Amino acid sequence: MKTTIIGSGVIGLFSAYYLNKQGHEVTIIERSNGDDSCSMGNAGMIVPSHFIPLAVPGMIEKGIRWMFNSESPFYVKPRLNLDLLSWGLKFYQAANKKQVERAMPALRDISLLSKALYQDLAKIPNFDFSFEEKGLMILCKTSHVYEEEIAVAKQANELGLKTKTLNINELHQLEPEVKPDVAGAIFYEGDAHLYPNQLVKKLKTHLEKQGVKFLYNTEVTGFEVEKDQIKSIKIKQSVGESTPQRNAACSSLITQHLIIATGSWSPILTKLLDLNLPMQAGKGYSLTNEQKIDKKLNIPSILMEARVAITPMSDNLIRFGGTMEIGGLNDEINMNRVRGIIKAVPNYFPDYRIDMPQKEQIWYGLRPCSPDGLPYIGRTNKYKNLVIASGHAMMGVSLAPATGKLVQQIIDNQQTTLDIELYKPERYD
Ligand SMILES: Cc1cc2nc3c(=O)[nH]c(=O)nc-3n(C[C@H](O)[C@H](O)[C@H](O)COP(=O)(O)OP(=O)(O)OC[C@H]3O[C@@H](n4cnc5c(N)ncnc54)[C@H](O)[C@@H]3O)c2cc1C
Repeated sequence: MKTTIIGSGVIGLFSAYYLNKQGHEVTIIERSNGDDSCSMGNAGMIVPSHFIPLAVPGMIEKGIRWMFNSESPFYVKPRLNLDLLSWGLKFYQAANKKQVERAMPALRDISLLSKALYQDLAKIPNFDFSFEEKGLMILCKTSHVYEEEIAVAKQANELGLKTKTLNINELHQLEPEVKPDVAGAIFYEGDAHLYPNQLVKKLKTHLEKQGVKFLYNTEVTGFEVEKDQIKSIKIKQSVGESTPQRNAACSSLITQHLIIATGSWSPILTKLLDLNLPMQAGKGYSLTNEQKIDKKLNIPSILMEARVAITPMSDNLIRFGGTMEIGGLNDEINMNRVRGIIKAVPNYFPDYRIDMPQKEQIWYGLRPCSPDGLPYIGRTNKYKNLVIASGHAMMGVSLAPATGKLVQQIIDNQQTTLDIELYKPERYD
């Protein structure tokens, strides 16, 4: 079966992984050289702890307050843009108790499936992606937020997820070299982390060895449709040196199955197919440093009020990531928001300071955010041979193996391991 995947981020790669295992002849089309997707510089956290979607009651009010602080972790760039307005309205409609309660067990299940698949993958010889199961600490600076997080932990326990509240002494035992100064912390025992750059590299090498074909520097620009089937994909391939003047060759590619896994750019392609896939890009930044001698952090953490993620990674590296800027598809780096991340760290770890980095040291990625905080995974009614796998927002790495597995089951018309009703791509039609 000729199966084409558009996008070589984690979602495209894991879809290829499970399809290839089932004997599909897979081609991945990637517009860039494959090194600058959102799937590289992220925090690499595998997070069953994130069972609550972004759209929750109270989030809009919080977001409006944050908008007036240039260093805040969340920002919506005000624009007169119909897609943004419509997304905002859908976010508002999703931010209610009933919707959140429906989403929570679904997110738990897909997260746990994904983690189990990562555990299996980590056992494959020569497939090391620095997967570690050390848990995740949610550090709360204020007692008010600590109380809120204790309530969230209770909900987690009701869903079967193990948590522990940590007092300051227990925290100091976990991080003896960089003692946190916080009101309290919740420890999610079941969370894990990995080194995303290594994961992507290993997956690509593995897939290439298994015969998956990669077409880099190749952009999908359109489709040829016959009734309810996408017959071929129009592509534009860059030829020669990577200069603005380089030539492009246009052609088309015939396919039997098509998967759109183009992250934040998915709506551009779905619009060409007359499909409505509400999505906004949520820009985040990260900085990767060497661990400090005598001030090594051991356990991944989230600085809750600041929404900063800290992940100690392999090769003695440590990554600081954060912010969610809903500001369109662009590559601007807002140093004020980066400063917000840098300043937050000593607020929680008083002995740990980071120098403000140069712009060139900052990585940014565009998270594909659906309005209800749930991914889009499934077939569309309009096209029989199309599957969409996108919209994983802050959890793309975490949910990638499960998404890939589900994509394979959908394409092969098998019973899916999980109920995918809530992930229907056409749920807003
Ligand atoms: C700061 C930060 C921290 C994060 N931390 C975590 C974390 O700890 N855990 C977690 O699970 N997630 C995290 N995320 C989110 C995660 O990185 C994303 O959800 C995930 O990478 C999305 O993967 P994707 O494959 O859907 O999209 P992408 O990785 O963006 O890949 C899409 C690919 O499609 C290609 N493409 C687009 N249009 C076309 C076209 N027309 N033709 C051909 N190719 C095209 C793009 O070039 C791109 O390579 C974080 C994100 C950020 C920004």
